[in-house]
Amino acid sequence: MHPEGVILVDTGETARTAEPGYFPRWHPYYRLAVQMDVAPEQEIGPQLRRLGIAPDDVRTVVMTHLHTDHAGGLHHFPNSQLLVSGDEHRAAQGVSGKIAGYLPQHWPTWFAPEPITFQPVTVGPFQQSMPVTTASDVIIVPTPGHTPHHVSVIVRGDGVDYFLAGDTSYTEKALMDRQPDGVSPKAQTAVATMDAILTYSRATPTVYLPSHDPASAARLGRQQTIPT
Ligand SMILES: [Zn+2]
Repeated sequence: MHPEGVILVDTGETARTAEPGYFPRWHPYYRLAVQMDVAPEQEIGPQLRRLGIAPDDVRTVVMTHLHTDHAGGLHHFPNSQLLVSGDEHRAAQGVSGKIAGYLPQHWPTWFAPEPITFQPVTVGPFQQSMPVTTASDVIIVPTPGHTPHHVSVIVRGDGVDYFLAGDTSYTEKALMDRQPDGVSPKAQTAVATMDAILTYSRATPTVYLPSHDPASAARLGRQQTIPT
């Protein structure tokens, strides 16, 4: 929660993955990628409500990328500003999107996100950025690798920054080991992004919060920064 409104990064998986035929079984992505079993009450909408936040009160949703395990909860946010890389959105559409491992057929019919517009404003090693708040304390930066137009969100805290990393790596250990996942189309792009995150964290103590790391919540609770 930010004084300028509730900002959400990614929307998680949907319970609909349990429906027969939800995933195209022919696609290797669904053998390589992380899969989750989600109950309806575990979807992002009910989770926010348990925190006292109505989905309609979410001012802005920033999507790190459009893989289904991040985009499965989009249907909870018809009234929020949705920010997505325009190139990511284009790459995820149609037959080529399906071949690339996206499920555009499951997006809400009203899904028409606002493209992220990067400015040539450097944030540490990141050459471009887009502030999400007028205070410029929530900032989108390009973190290509896992997908070619993947983005991350930096939240500037008091002495500690938070790096909402999406899938720049699945774990902090993979970041430290500079180990790309099996999904990244270009391993060296993923490693360059990991190097940028490590460079950032050496200048500013940073809590690294990739989506799939089971230890992310504990690191957030302890304010445990990336070891440098
Ligand atoms: Zn992904």
